[in-house]
Amino acid sequence: MRTDTDCIFCKIVAGEIPCFKLYEDEHTLAFMDINPASTGHALAIAKAHWENIHEIPVELACACIATAQRIAGAAQTALSPDGINLLQANGPGAGQSVQHFHVHIMPRYAGDEHLKINWGLNPGDTDEIKAAYGKIAGCLG
Ligand code: 5GP
Ligand code: ZN
Repeated sequence: MRTDTDCIFCKIVAGEIPCFKLYEDEHTLAFMDINPASTGHALAIAKAHWENIHEIPVELACACIATAQRIAGAAQTALSPDGINLLQANGPGAGQSVQHFHVHIMPRYAGDEHLKINWGLNPGDTDEIKAAYGKIAGCLG
């Protein structure tokens, strides 16, 4: 299995650093985030060291989503939040601080807009949308 001896999440997978483990299966691990952005904030990670969405094999990304879904269901039952965000960052520009693929499960509660992950519904410029669409669609092959 791919691993990185300098990676904090690989150390958690290896049991070298403790965590509040929620769930584990062959390919994934879920545990509580040590710096919770909200009550119940948890992470679903791949056990193997893949840096981001560009690197990880699709079946492992799917396994992480399946684990995130499982944790979200339990969090919904246990904590009755008003909603749950799943968040997954790729690269420093997106706020990724641990370079090991993971999905955040973030229960949301009324009045917690300080989390600043809500960008609101501001109508976009159709020409700008179309221009970005054309560029991305052109790279889908
Ligand atoms: P990112 O910023 O890469 O999207 O998310 C990394 C997350 O990992 C952060 O929310 C951070 O709080 C969490 N984290 C970093 N180090 C540790 C650790 O040692 N233990 C746990 N449980 N979470 C960690
Ligand atoms: Zn790692």
